Amino acid sequence: MVKSRTDYPSETSVHGSDSQSGMLERPFHRLNDPEGDQVPECLPCIVDAHVHLFPDHIFSSVWKWFDRYGWPIRYRLTSEEIINFLTTRGVSHIVALHYAHKPGLARELNSYMSKLCSSNPGVTGMATIFPGERDAGLILEDAFQRGLSGVKLHCHVQCFEILGKPMQEVYETCIRNNKPLIMHVGREPKSPAYPCDPYELCRADTVEQVLQDHPDLKLCVPHMGADEFIEYQILIEKYDNLWLDTTMTLAEYLPMEYFPQFTEMRVDRVMFGTDFPNLPYAWDREIKRLVELKLSDDIIVRILGQNAMEFYGINSGPDR
Ligand SMILES: [Zn+2]
Repeated sequence: MVKSRTDYPSETSVHGSDSQSGMLERPFHRLNDPEGDQVPECLPCIVDAHVHLFPDHIFSSVWKWFDRYGWPIRYRLTSEEIINFLTTRGVSHIVALHYAHKPGLARELNSYMSKLCSSNPGVTGMATIFPGERDAGLILEDAFQRGLSGVKLHCHVQCFEILGKPMQEVYETCIRNNKPLIMHVGREPKSPAYPCDPYELCRADTVEQVLQDHPDLKLCVPHMGADEFIEYQILIEKYDNLWLDTTMTLAEYLPMEYFPQFTEMRVDRVMFGTDFPNLPYAWDREIKRLVELKLSDDIIVRILGQNAMEFYGINSGPDR
């Protein structure tokens, strides 16, 4: 099922949650929704727990992929510009993610990320690895020593077996180093342009097996586990080692019939994230949606910052 890796697949391609045949039947458009200059004053410390930072040449490949298979990217910025853009608008801290789409790239990407983190205290960076590549465990250990704070993997792009042997090494390395793992293992957003079928590889009950086998692993599944939203909501009730992030689920852009009901779930396990800069809509669209929900202060503080600070081991954000 694995196609050749010629394009650099992006994380969030488009999808229809009720379709298993691919999601590019409809064109996806840029929303010209208005954007704010700052995050609203009423909000506490904001950690964006899902931002992508890449070297320039990889960003341009990602955007080429989006141009062909996804949506128009509204913010074509370099990593430094992204950090500056968000922090000057009031985002207190950024969790930065990247992913290697083939073996042999992880060292270069991790080194790039660790340099960004050293020069930007407002950024907590994840390491990446291509599961099964040579010296995978050592590459991750090296990345942690260089200051990276966890691991990011993406099943749609990297096409790994969640319960496969190479993944056991990743889980064990994270546990041994007390580092969290953020792993896109929801079935959506699915694209036929991905090199494998996420519906074959990704299932909530498979992820549950990982949680049972590795009770000391701290795992975050992004996009609220799309599209197995109910299953993941049950899993966070059941397991203390699972977290979710909200990325793109508040925007009401993708054709999914779901909107998080935060008052009906375990909110100490949910983190706010955006997927910036790879967005077709305003950078603060999902922040505004959260404000409109008029959630209690306790819930807002947790979702917008506290949970991510605990999960990713962020010491403290600048005062707001
Ligand atoms: Zn993402």
